[in-house]
Amino acid sequence: MAAAAQTDLPSRPGRRLLRRVAPWVLVLLCCLAVAVLAWRWTENAATEKLRLAGAQRLDSYAVSLENLLSKYDFLPGTLELNKDVIALLQRPGDEAVRAEVNAYLEQVNRLSRSTTIYIVNLQGLTQASSNWREPDSFVGDNVAFRPYVRDALRRTPGGFYGVGTTRGEPGYFFAHGIYHNGRMLGVATVKVNIETLENGWVQGADKVMLTDAHGVVFLSSVQDWKYRTLAPLAPEVLQELEVSRQYFSHALLPLGMRELRKLDSGATIVATPSPAEHARMLSQTRSLAPRKWQFVYLSDLAPAEASARNAFIFTWLSEALLLMLVLYARQRRRLGRQRQRARVDLQRAYDHLETMVAERTASLQQMTHNLSEENVVRRQAEQKLRQAQSELVQAGKMAVLGQMSAGITHELNQPLTALRTMSDNARVLIERGRLDEAKDNLTTISQLVGRMGALTGQLRQFARKADASLKPVPVAAAITAALFLVERRVEQERVNFRMSMLSQDVYALCDSNRLEQVLVNLFTNALDAMAGCDVRQLAVSVTRSFNKAMIAVSDTGPGIPESVRSHLFEPFFTTKPQGQGLGLGLAISEQIIREFGGQLLAESTTAGGARFIIELPIAERETA
Ligand code: ADP
Repeated sequence: MAAAAQTDLPSRPGRRLLRRVAPWVLVLLCCLAVAVLAWRWTENAATEKLRLAGAQRLDSYAVSLENLLSKYDFLPGTLELNKDVIALLQRPGDEAVRAEVNAYLEQVNRLSRSTTIYIVNLQGLTQASSNWREPDSFVGDNVAFRPYVRDALRRTPGGFYGVGTTRGEPGYFFAHGIYHNGRMLGVATVKVNIETLENGWVQGADKVMLTDAHGVVFLSSVQDWKYRTLAPLAPEVLQELEVSRQYFSHALLPLGMRELRKLDSGATIVATPSPAEHARMLSQTRSLAPRKWQFVYLSDLAPAEASARNAFIFTWLSEALLLMLVLYARQRRRLGRQRQRARVDLQRAYDHLETMVAERTASLQQMTHNLSEENVVRRQAEQKLRQAQSELVQAGKMAVLGQMSAGITHELNQPLTALRTMSDNARVLIERGRLDEAKDNLTTISQLVGRMGALTGQLRQFARKADASLKPVPVAAAITAALFLVERRVEQERVNFRMSMLSQDVYALCDSNRLEQVLVNLFTNALDAMAGCDVRQLAVSVTRSFNKAMIAVSDTGPGIPESVRSHLFEPFFTTKPQGQGLGLGLAISEQIIREFGGQLLAESTTAGGARFIIELPIAERETA
């Protein structure tokens, strides 16, 4: 099996090629066959047309020849009606009668337009002749050897075509016995030139010949073919012609015409000798019975062959055109089928796409629905967050307050203790009547109460929950208020506080309470950071850049390490020991400043400390 498969393999492409090529070869062969058939059919039809035309011509030539000859048929017989002719034959030595007959024959010859008329006696001697005046007159010639004379003497009226023995001029000889009282006295002969007929025979490339019983051409539209034979003559025939001197001194050589093909119609196709322009001609004959003559008509086959060739070419071209049309139609059909398939595919793809689009639309709608639901949830979450943030801010504040509670308590306890002591003192002084001193004490008490009131007022203000509305806030005032809350620490921790302001007050669009919260947070952080430092300097500066107010809070603490910087504003991020820091201050501050439309930034100072910058939108004083 494997071996068989192996031997099959190489022949497979060959077979495939054969299968593809074979139909085309078959089609080409069929086309060739049809073209050859067209060629043959056209050639046959054209040949047949030529044959019919040739036959028609032959008929007309034969009729005109017969007409010509029959015109003279009666002439020799009528000469016996002339008494002088009879008298001459009866008295051959009578020169006067001969002269009469000669003149008579001359006259008849002129009138009948024959070539020569002459009278021969029973011995074949010419007694009188129409050409008696000519130097080569027939008178006295013996023409007994001429077959027509012989025939006439045998009482058979003779007809004979031959070349004249005197001048070598061809002509048709009519001979008839001259009778007187039933007795033959001699023979009357009329020679007619029938060569004039040839003039009417020239028809284009066609050729015409008139041959005798032996196939000798004696009249022809081609002069060179005259006195040639259709076939070589037998020796006895040559001998006979020699004796009768029918063709005088002509050699009678064969024409050399070859028969190529015999057609069903009886015509033949022959190869003609020179000087025919075309080698192949259609030959047809017509006998001129009873004369044993034969007309040969040669039609030029060139037009027929050209028509056949044209038919062959035309058929080939038509077939090629047809084939191309068929191929074109096939190609169009194939393209149409492909287009149809493509259309179906496209429709399918389109349907698929539509389904996909519908599915996607449905899923998008679902997603949109989910999104709007999510949006609602998100908005609720945001609201909760904002609430939580607000509470966180508040919580941050409380955390700061908590951190500051020790200081506040101290702040309040000190004046309270002083108040108590001074009020006790005042009472004692009043009791002792030292009213001026008591008055001074009461003034101091009043100042202390005022100071405590201011402190609690600030605390209340700070603890108050934020107002959402933003107003132009004088930045310097906010800084002073915030400083107030940490003033005690600044003093206690001996921190050098520096403040640089612009000459003109700067207003920021924000909420004063919350700005103070941020500032307190920044101050507290700075103080915390500088707790262990030798140099403790807290600087606050206010600048203005375009439409922004900048508050910078710088310290001389240890600064902010890189690891801390990235987490500074994260809620609950603190480096402070537990219980001291919640890690909410900066997160809340950053949130508050952002809500004002500003930003809170942290950087290191050149001295290595930390600097926090609050950027706020400027509010024009007019608005305030
Ligand atoms: P808390 O003060 O409760 O720790 P904050 O959010 O206010 O929370 O501060 C977070 C951290 O940022 C602080 O723990 C500290 O490490 C750092 N920090 C804040 N301000 C300064 C500063 N001026 N110098 C150095 N570090 C600071």
